[in-house]
Amino acid sequence: MTRLTPDPTTIVSLADLAGQPDANPCLSCGACCAHFRVSFYFGEVDVHGGTVPQALVTQISPSRVCMQGTEHGGGRCVSLRGELGQPGIHCDIYENRSTPCREFDMWQADGSPNPDCQRLRARLGLAPLGPRPDAENDPQGPSTPSDQPRAA
Ligand code: SF4
Ligand code: SF4
Repeated sequence: MTRLTPDPTTIVSLADLAGQPDANPCLSCGACCAHFRVSFYFGEVDVHGGTVPQALVTQISPSRVCMQGTEHGGGRCVSLRGELGQPGIHCDIYENRSTPCREFDMWQADGSPNPDCQRLRARLGLAPLGPRPDAENDPQGPSTPSDQPRAA
């Protein structure tokens, strides 16, 4: 769901950080897992060679499924554990989650905060996030540090 370390290619596991809620803002948020319809190609389901357990998805078209609970948007994903906006919330299938779950990130490619993430956090009364700490050194980052928006 998000990158936190200076190595922008490293994905920090929510499960790894479960005992360190202060280390990863996602572990005291969970807003994106209770807002979007989380839909993806049915080939990501385990019975079709993917990783997402079939028992956790709903078929929404001949070729697409979504996580149960998110069918209509604004609903909570069946795999989300814990209380929204509270420490310890996490994904129960983190290692096996779908592509949209992996691609939704706190930061954009240039290291600036993802505005959708910021908006969802604000709705829970959570503080906005700053730029990714390594943004100035990110080879895909902005050409000048001043391009990076700053959190309030
Ligand atoms: S809305 Fe942002 S901070 Fe909250 S869980 Fe999703 S990616 Fe993490
Ligand atoms: S599968 Fe996990 S990461 Fe994806 S929406 Fe559900 S709780 Fe969030």
